[in-house]
Amino acid sequence: MKQNPSRRAGKRAARRALPRPALLAAAAAALCVLLLAVSFLAPRRPDTLPGQVQQAMPSWVRQELLTPNEYSRPQIPLEAVNAVVIHYVGNPGTSAEANRSYFEGLAVSGETYASSNFIIGLDGEIIECVPVDEVAYCSSDRNGDTVSIEVCHPDETGQFTAASMSSLVRLTAWLCEAFGLDPETGVIRHYDVTGKECPLYYVEHPEAWDAFRADVALAMEEDAQ
Ligand SMILES: [Zn+2]
Repeated sequence: MKQNPSRRAGKRAARRALPRPALLAAAAAALCVLLLAVSFLAPRRPDTLPGQVQQAMPSWVRQELLTPNEYSRPQIPLEAVNAVVIHYVGNPGTSAEANRSYFEGLAVSGETYASSNFIIGLDGEIIECVPVDEVAYCSSDRNGDTVSIEVCHPDETGQFTAASMSSLVRLTAWLCEAFGLDPETGVIRHYDVTGKECPLYYVEHPEAWDAFRADVALAMEEDAQ
């Protein structure tokens, strides 16, 4: 039987009309897949909020937070961290605990304003004195956007022990990862802020300072693997 040409044309029109929503659905599905892929492949944003980083503090950091007081732990919120500042305690042979006690004692003596977020001892122990979401009085003009690490040292040269250095690399790498910092630009000396000879050995020996930051970068690469 000969088909009515107008009915055939109608069927063709229907066939042409149908794929359109199907194509749209396919395109939408493809777009979703693409967006999902991009969101998975894009580098994860680091936890840049200091409060979140404080919550994630690893167990190898001993939290011995100072009693809140205006001289060493004023509880001023630290909104952003743009660098880690390294210091030496400048008092040869003293322990991390002794330096923490000095900061704690300022609450009573009120002799000066001083503190540090972290102190690393001669045996590599790491004490947190001021949470990383609070300002410590350590790095002058950069107190408001940095975290500070004070390191103990056995003698007048200010050189850190191998145990202290190992902990310093570990902690600095962890902080750089947590705050999304590059050790080339985001790890600085007190000297780089004020010109003060602190940390002394690493001001007098720039090659030792560069080696330290290279070790931090290496530790970050190893952590990423
Ligand atoms: Zn210093």
